[in-house]
Amino acid sequence: MSTARRSSASFPSAARVELRRTQLRRNLGHATATIRRKRLATVAELSDWEELREAGGLIKDRTMRSLDRHLEEFERAFTAAGGEVHWARDADEANAIAVSIVQRHGAAEVVKVKSLTTDEIGLNDALAAVGVDAIETDFAELILQLDGDWSSHILVPAIHRNRTEIRDLFRRTIGDADLTDDPSQLAETARRHLRERFLRARVGISGANFAVAETGSLVVLESEGNGRMCTTLPEVLISVVGIEKLVPRWEDLEVFLQLLPRSSTGERMNPYTSVWSGPVDGDGPREMHVILLDNGRTRVLADAVGRQALHCIRCSACLNVCPVYERTGGHAYGSIYPGPIGAILTPQLEGIGAAPSLPYASSLCGACYEVCPVKIDIPRVLVHLRGLTPKRGAERRAMRTLAWLFADARRYRRAQRLARVLPARVAGAGPMRAWTAGRDLPAVAPQSFREWWHERRP
Ligand code: SF4
Repeated sequence: MSTARRSSASFPSAARVELRRTQLRRNLGHATATIRRKRLATVAELSDWEELREAGGLIKDRTMRSLDRHLEEFERAFTAAGGEVHWARDADEANAIAVSIVQRHGAAEVVKVKSLTTDEIGLNDALAAVGVDAIETDFAELILQLDGDWSSHILVPAIHRNRTEIRDLFRRTIGDADLTDDPSQLAETARRHLRERFLRARVGISGANFAVAETGSLVVLESEGNGRMCTTLPEVLISVVGIEKLVPRWEDLEVFLQLLPRSSTGERMNPYTSVWSGPVDGDGPREMHVILLDNGRTRVLADAVGRQALHCIRCSACLNVCPVYERTGGHAYGSIYPGPIGAILTPQLEGIGAAPSLPYASSLCGACYEVCPVKIDIPRVLVHLRGLTPKRGAERRAMRTLAWLFADARRYRRAQRLARVLPARVAGAGPMRAWTAGRDLPAVAPQSFREWWHERRP
């Protein structure tokens, strides 16, 4: 499937299934609480954190206003440094470009850095269709690939798996029968499995956290070092980059390289930051390609409220504080973009009709906005998208009835008097039933403000 969607089930029905998985909730509760604690501690170290957030949001906002200019500037700089830039309108075009480069080099397998953008376009499937093995080299992505599973968290894709489950999986696939669930043993097993693949791969595939227009540089932040192996050892490197990853100037990185590690893993600095701006003689890949991907992004850009979703730097802080995500997990969102950011990004990238229930996958508590390092007002976008979702029959009838009541003062007063004498179970029936199934319908006040006022007026 060449889209961000992994399941067509609506959020409520998928959530109902996920909520039955007690182990999943236990894993999620433990993992998100740990990351939240670490994030709070590292953020508290910076007295100018709020100013950094403000700066991050403003840089992204300014970039989006002249994105066309920055993209062309990036293309010029990357090409001048000896790289090749390709433009892809959608997933199919991006996959076709990547497949043709891999085939031109006669590669039967490629090594991959963890990349949501390549997941979004379904690149692994496109490569498999022409007989090319795409090997995920990030520890969590490897776990998912070995088990035919898919990501449930932006940063920790296998957050729904615990050590014992991983041990059992490794025993079945790449490990020895006496493997224990000791993290260092599990990591060593993955390392041994991947090492020779790194050394023999002729093509590496990555995404990018940032693309700097001024210098034509791509930047990848990671924790394990596998990304650096993928981007330096093979002869050819292909990077699939969403057009929203652009930042205009080199110095803009100063802001984002402080915001991202603290917000994502709760670290002051991520262990590996790789930067490249075209091939260099005697060092790293001989051939470098960038595929600049639209895939719905320009449509998102056209929406004045919704476009802020493109500012996202994929830190996952909003997932870790979301009370809905913490209970349902990522698979309930049916997309490779889960949690609050997924609830506003997927319906915009794919069209609201493809995921109409996602804007409702939130309590609108605002915790996501408070932690977002680039100040994306997720609750505001959620409400905006709710306004764009196709209304269901009962909802439409309820709205029409309310509009009719509110249009006439006498009619409205009569309805108020009637609501006071109706028992709550009758008022909560009919079109209101779905709403009152999980909530109490507040009793109507015995006296309206107008009645109270008229009574007291001299
Ligand atoms: S929306 Fe904000 S908090 Fe959520 S992943 Fe994106 S940048 Fe991080």
